[in-house]
Amino acid sequence: MEIDIYEEEQQIYDEAVSRISEIKSGALLNFDEYETLTKEYGRILKQLRRITRITDRTVRGLHENNLDLTDKVHYDALTGIYNRRFMEDNLKRIIKTLSRSSGSELSVLMIDIDFFKKYNDTYGHSEGDTCLKAVARSITESLLRPDDFAARYGGEEFVVILPNTDESGALVMANKILANIQFKNILHEKNEATSCITVSIGVTTSEVKRGQEGSAYIKQADEALYVSKQNGRNRYTFIELKGEEL
Ligand code: GH3
Ligand code: MG
Ligand code: MG
Repeated sequence: MEIDIYEEEQQIYDEAVSRISEIKSGALLNFDEYETLTKEYGRILKQLRRITRITDRTVRGLHENNLDLTDKVHYDALTGIYNRRFMEDNLKRIIKTLSRSSGSELSVLMIDIDFFKKYNDTYGHSEGDTCLKAVARSITESLLRPDDFAARYGGEEFVVILPNTDESGALVMANKILANIQFKNILHEKNEATSCITVSIGVTTSEVKRGQEGSAYIKQADEALYVSKQNGRNRYTFIELKGEEL
């Protein structure tokens, strides 16, 4: 059953209407009754103002929460950097923009932490999470240009997108990321080569053509990453993204 929150107000209104019709048909105006009615009316007015204020506050709160949520869908909950979904959407936009001017190059880096399963097994999952945050920070701190961005691709994998960057620029960035992560000196005794946390990187570059798919860059960077893993980790490998792969 629906509750009428204005039931009392309706009664007062009905009472006023019936008093007016009585007065119209000859009854005397009773000032005491009239005073009671106006007092009631004043009280209701106050109540309505209060309800409006509460509604305004609720609507404002909902709006702020909504903005907050819109913001959150772009970010990875653990590391606070962009998530894969945002990366893929933004990569699509970037490719569209770059394809409008001929000769624009785009580079993509795929980064994966070395022997991270062993890190979790040795130091625990919670330390693993802390390590992921530190690596994410180190990657984003390595980026300098405003259009460059990093995202968590999944688990312990990250992607870096470098618009208007050629092969040599991308390799400088890959080197810088390797060095900055190693410089953090996060102890990892089970990392076979160095006993601190390291990453492997796959790098790819291509001139952006109209209709090019972002996934082609990701796939190529991933293949290059695989070669880095095969060749001993803690290194980068470059593989050019060729036209025929589009
Ligand atoms: P490789 O050097 O070949 O990359 O070996 P790896 O051990 O890093 O790779 P593998 O894919 O075998 O293991 C990845 C590990 O990452 C396993 C998984 O438990 C861990 N991992 C993925 N996401 C998270 C996370 O959010 N937090 C923590 N602590 N660990 C995670
Ligand atoms: Mg991995
Ligand atoms: Mg790994």
